[in-house]
Amino acid sequence: MRGGSWTGRDGVTRPLEGTDFMVVAPYNIQVRQLRQTLRAAGLANVPVGTVDKFQGREAPMVFDSMATSRHAPDLILVHFLCADSFQHLHGPRSPEAYWALEYVDHCVDRVLSALPTGALERDTAVLVVSDHGFLPCDHEIRVNVRLRQLGLMKVDGEGRITESRARFVTNHGAGYVYVLDPADRASLVHDLKSELAALEGVTGVWGVADYAGLGLPSPDENPMMGELVLEAAEGYAFGDEARGDDHLGPPRYRGNHGHRPGHLDNGAFFLAVGAGVRRSAELGTIMSRDVAPTVAHLLEVKLGDVAGKLVADALA
Ligand SMILES: [Zn+2]
Repeated sequence: MRGGSWTGRDGVTRPLEGTDFMVVAPYNIQVRQLRQTLRAAGLANVPVGTVDKFQGREAPMVFDSMATSRHAPDLILVHFLCADSFQHLHGPRSPEAYWALEYVDHCVDRVLSALPTGALERDTAVLVVSDHGFLPCDHEIRVNVRLRQLGLMKVDGEGRITESRARFVTNHGAGYVYVLDPADRASLVHDLKSELAALEGVTGVWGVADYAGLGLPSPDENPMMGELVLEAAEGYAFGDEARGDDHLGPPRYRGNHGHRPGHLDNGAFFLAVGAGVRRSAELGTIMSRDVAPTVAHLLEVKLGDVAGKLVADALA
């Protein structure tokens, strides 16, 4: 195909070069194999990658490389990334978000068409799930700026923290304050709680004593937990930035998650079809942690002691 003629959107006709092609493969090991083969054929400039590398890109000629296995798998997990990345970058309900959802819909269709005839009636179940939704974001809250102004941390010109008695780590919709100075931790935590609750966009600040009520482990159970947890209001999210004088800035991401689970738009998605699944059942709210026990049940695998429970209403 190289050297063949190609007329672009601009109406200009020119010969196809190596860089006009794209080869998409499902596995990294397959990508390496394809690169090696192309290099040996003098085609090192043909881009090869997994789907995530080509997100939002197009080319005159795209090859999709598939994989087959000699062994029929009991479980296949497929992750379609772009619904997440596009909603982070452009925000929920943006044109880009709808494009991503349509694209994932098309990918799910490809998976379904690849199933052997009659598989869904016979022995195969397909579950389509997500792990979170999105809230829109117009402002980024910069807790570390406040901590720096309180004299609790120092940063260099590049924004790297050089000294800190306390610091904030964002999880976007929420975030933790870690008090690193053990000497007067209790009084520092107490002061920071009211100080940070007053920042614009912060809906609440909770201490370790409140963690159980929020469904969070204590720092004894999980050493990654901070001394305080903060939540952002709708329209706000947290950032890591420690430089400057403003507690608010433009958001790095237009869509975020990580808030308390009450926001409807932060809910995830569950759809099941096939062998062992009840037809036309409408489920109420289920918990994400119930998905794994339900899959285990369909696979007839024993999971042992897990927090989730079977979504019995979804099963035939
Ligand atoms: Zn995400």
